[in-house]
Amino acid sequence: MTAVDDTDVSLRVPFADLAMQTAEVRPELDAVWRELLDSHRFIGGDVVEAFEREWAAYCGTDFAVSVGNGTDSLHLILRALGIGRGDEVVVPANTFIATAEAVVLAGAVPVFVDVLPDTLLVDPAQVEAAITPRTAAVVPVHLFGQMADMDRLTEVAQRAGVALVEDAAQAHGAFHDGSRAGSVGAAGSFSFYPGKNLGAFGDGGAVTTSDPEMAARLRSLRDHGRALSDRYLHDHVGVNSRLDALQAGILSVKLRHLDGWTRARRAHAAAYREQLPADVVTMVEETPATPSVHHLAVVRTERRQEAVDGLALRGIDTGIHYPVPCHLQEPYAAYSRGPLPVAESAASEILSLPMFPHLTPDQVSHVCESVAAVLR
Ligand SMILES: *Cc1c(COP(=O)(O)O)cnc(C)c1O
Repeated sequence: MTAVDDTDVSLRVPFADLAMQTAEVRPELDAVWRELLDSHRFIGGDVVEAFEREWAAYCGTDFAVSVGNGTDSLHLILRALGIGRGDEVVVPANTFIATAEAVVLAGAVPVFVDVLPDTLLVDPAQVEAAITPRTAAVVPVHLFGQMADMDRLTEVAQRAGVALVEDAAQAHGAFHDGSRAGSVGAAGSFSFYPGKNLGAFGDGGAVTTSDPEMAARLRSLRDHGRALSDRYLHDHVGVNSRLDALQAGILSVKLRHLDGWTRARRAHAAAYREQLPADVVTMVEETPATPSVHHLAVVRTERRQEAVDGLALRGIDTGIHYPVPCHLQEPYAAYSRGPLPVAESAASEILSLPMFPHLTPDQVSHVCESVAAVLR
């Protein structure tokens, strides 16, 4: 390892810096807060409905139904599809735990499959091989900001007669063949957790769909299973998972900036690709047909711990998404059907470098030079 006096901590690089994003939209946010205090409409209402219309239009779907978070959105999509006990749902092994959690919450069984070694996105051939007469749905995850191969997955799902549900929590605005994430499957699931590409100031989520019945069922399920025609009647056992008007107002403001922030993320990803030392780290691949919105900048190295420690000494924060694949997490191990070698080997090598719209070119260069200094 390099001597400590070689390090330059004068340029700190946080993993993500939301303060600069907030500063950029601060005047617009102040207006949202003032209007909310005047209206006193804190849950539901015009502000929430306006955001739902804007989000549906952005994603290219007929409807968006807002919910309390991205886990509820997935869970409620599965319930709206009638998926539950005895059903199997195919999910990739390397994703945030919520993808598998939502399946179990719906009462169904997650069937974990492996991913492609270059993109770490779910492998359609493995999905096809995992389908049984009990399979009710496939949930590809558009991981790190890049859409899974929806052409092949649509074929596989149609042939098997099962629903295709997109976990788009990391892919706001990503597209494939002109279709946005969340508009290809029966429904798309989004999270607006603060660190996502479109983030609220608390929890939030939404389902996108062009199926009016699905949208109606979700509107009921998110609000105690309430009948849409009579607020004192309940058609289902639902949940309480509604978006606050404050969060919706913040999201409407930030949505106007999302494409600019995505362009900034793309520029940083291109700079990483150009400046990272290719002899010691490799970036997760981006397929030209599915331009990424770079929720995360993920590289692979067999010497990850050295990289984490050396970068920390140089004032650079990193993350790991995710160090333990879902099928090896204790509560999910019972669903595992054997090793998934690509996901497992990736889990020990992946490292997420700083990525957020307001990164500066100097910070990106500092990260790349530091990776070279630490690992060469
Ligand atoms: C963040 C995330 C979720 C869950 O969203 P929450 O809003 O935190 O519940 C689901 N799937 C993936 C892939 C995510 O990254």
